[in-house]
Amino acid sequence: MGMQAALRLVYPPQCVACGAAVATEFGLCGACWRDTGFITGTVCDLCGLPLPGDGGGVAHCDDCIALARPWERGRAVFLYRDKGREMVLGLKHADRTDLARPAGDWLFRAAGPILQAGMVVAPVPLHWWRLFTRRYNQSALVAARLARLAGLAHCPDLLKRIRPTGSQEGRNREGRFGNLSGAIRVHPKRVDRVKGAHVLLVDDVMTSGATLAACAEACLAAGAGRVSVAVLARVAKDA
Ligand SMILES: [Zn+2]
Ligand SMILES: [Zn+2]
Repeated sequence: MGMQAALRLVYPPQCVACGAAVATEFGLCGACWRDTGFITGTVCDLCGLPLPGDGGGVAHCDDCIALARPWERGRAVFLYRDKGREMVLGLKHADRTDLARPAGDWLFRAAGPILQAGMVVAPVPLHWWRLFTRRYNQSALVAARLARLAGLAHCPDLLKRIRPTGSQEGRNREGRFGNLSGAIRVHPKRVDRVKGAHVLLVDDVMTSGATLAACAEACLAAGAGRVSVAVLARVAKDA
């Protein structure tokens, strides 16, 4: 018996959300799967929000029509509610770094339609102080897994926050965009990686899109040819 099989007898695989016994590792039990709000069907091509419709043609949500997004395409794994929200918060604040692997797997599947050969995968950066206190960037862990599965280059320090921006929570949309304006730059050592590249930005949550917009604008200002985005959770206004 191999080591993995022996370990499985002692520690049967658990649902990554609730700990219930499941058949395969790094997965969800049936109940958590149903409570996660995975996005399927027709989605906004810029942010991944689910939309009514039959999937014919390219669709955009109201937010992405109202706000010019400085990126080309986007996808999201699940809505930011129920188990999806719980897992994002666990990954971000509760040292649940083990969630990065299944999250990366789901993101690989959700972002499938927009993945392209030669993309450079880059996480939305934390300010160094937050990285220091939290010890890891949850988006970088997910981005690393996605890049590995997709066979794409991962550049975890492509972008840096040049000043702390505090929490976006409690700010309205204008406040969110204003708070992030000019706060993110391409790392001076990584400018060569960006020039002419198609950058795939990875973040855990998209609310207004202000953070992703600031990152995309920084990439374009540094000479990126194209930018797309992939997020774990999309906040829906009525979710
Ligand atoms: Zn479960
Ligand atoms: Zn949208």
